[in-house]
Amino acid sequence: MERRVRVRFAPSPTGPLHIGGVRTALYNYLFAKKNGGDFLLRIEDTDRTRFVEGAERYIIESFEWLGIKFDEGVGIGGDYGPYRQSERKDMYRKYALELVEKGWAYYAFDTPEELDAVRKRYEAEKKNFQYDCKTRMSLRNSLSLSRQEVERLLEEGRAYVIRFRFPENEDIHLDDLIRGHVKMNSSLLDDKVLYKSDGMPTYHLANIVDDHLMKITHVIRGEEWLPSCPLHVMLYKAFGWEDTMPAFAHLPLLLKPEGNGKLSKRDGDRLGFPVFPLQWTDPKTKEVSSGYRESGYLPEAVINMLALLGWNSGTEQELFSLDELVQVFSIERISKHGAKFDLEKAKWFNHQYLMKVSDEELTDAFMSDLKSRNIERSKDFVASVVRLIRERCNFVKDLWSNSDYFFVAPEEYAEKALKKRWKDGMTEKMMVISNNLQQISDGKDWGQKAEDFLMKHITDNGLNMGQVMNSIRLAVVGDTKGPNMLDIMNVLGKDEIISRINKAIERIGILCREE
Ligand code: GLU
Repeated sequence: MERRVRVRFAPSPTGPLHIGGVRTALYNYLFAKKNGGDFLLRIEDTDRTRFVEGAERYIIESFEWLGIKFDEGVGIGGDYGPYRQSERKDMYRKYALELVEKGWAYYAFDTPEELDAVRKRYEAEKKNFQYDCKTRMSLRNSLSLSRQEVERLLEEGRAYVIRFRFPENEDIHLDDLIRGHVKMNSSLLDDKVLYKSDGMPTYHLANIVDDHLMKITHVIRGEEWLPSCPLHVMLYKAFGWEDTMPAFAHLPLLLKPEGNGKLSKRDGDRLGFPVFPLQWTDPKTKEVSSGYRESGYLPEAVINMLALLGWNSGTEQELFSLDELVQVFSIERISKHGAKFDLEKAKWFNHQYLMKVSDEELTDAFMSDLKSRNIERSKDFVASVVRLIRERCNFVKDLWSNSDYFFVAPEEYAEKALKKRWKDGMTEKMMVISNNLQQISDGKDWGQKAEDFLMKHITDNGLNMGQVMNSIRLAVVGDTKGPNMLDIMNVLGKDEIISRINKAIERIGILCREE
């Protein structure tokens, strides 16, 4: 019988969720939904030394913001809970003991100091120490010690760990859905700790036991877990769960923009982009790391961008909603190679989604931005500015930098443009123009009439079109940027335009006289 597809995202709450982790979760989600299956959130918090306060809440909030919904898990519930491993703690011991009983695992009594001494001895001989099939008989464990000795140590309550016992010289095969066939010889692998002296399972044991109990069919996770996979395959064998062992798919890394090495938090700081979905304040150091949300990215843009970092649809299409991604996603189209993060592309995606936001919504967003700058204008006025400049923006915050002159008359004028344009008696020419503009009766069509006048005036008097129009732009905008002058004149209206031209005549006139 076909098993129902069940996948999980299993983060450890050790800090803010890296954007690569978000991509892993996204691919799991897409795969589950495409196949009509379930998507679980399991929190793997068995390593108490790395636990970070607030990280679990951060993970949940990130997915809420992104609109990626879990079917089961921490904060949701479900038939296979609890979904937080620390709450499943007592369950793992029996599985560890089962492996000891079957001869797949053993007690190891070596103290950290003893192991350290052995390691140092090896180092002195320029060798690497590994607890494995070659060394285990010379160490203090239930394989090397007599039965009575082991019983005595256990009775005395000596601290121990339970280690996996890799068989000698056995090829372990794994068919990864992305990497293809992977083979590893068991003699090369170290006898990983499965159960720790603090009564907690390690990641490996808890992960496999839970995937089994939660009926996970596919494990889709980062490439960094590939080296652990032979152990995981062996654990399924040791427990006798091979029939229901999930299929594995190890995702390629997210690389630095330059392409060399894994995208790290420091790259984000260095190149000015977030590597975390939400802003994060480290509870200990209070160091703040930027987030996509706070940097003005839209969740749809982040999802779209991440989907294409390591996967492609095989078509030219680049814009996909989450639902469209569900339709077209397939593991076969995930790349084997690392995907380079591209900041320009990230901005491009945000631009595309920002353009889909209605004028009304953008106007509201801009109104609150303006409010924080103590600027209040009618909604109609702000909406007319938004309509004019939205095309130029990648983020809501760009609305202000592209339109500040609509709200505040320029105090200064771009020096280079001023030198180039405001010359040959421009001050006098502008005085004439200002007087004439004043004569045109005000009203809705003032802008158009003003433009008609300017065109005629420039031609009739043999003036230089570029010089005059750019000087007016300088007076109104303070720079040579912005949409066309007719639009600007329509939005700002007669009084404001004339007052800015007059102000420029005065200020630039003084500047010029001073020179
Ligand atoms: N807890 C592991 C992590 O933090 C999960 C790895 C896996 O998916 O097996 O990435």
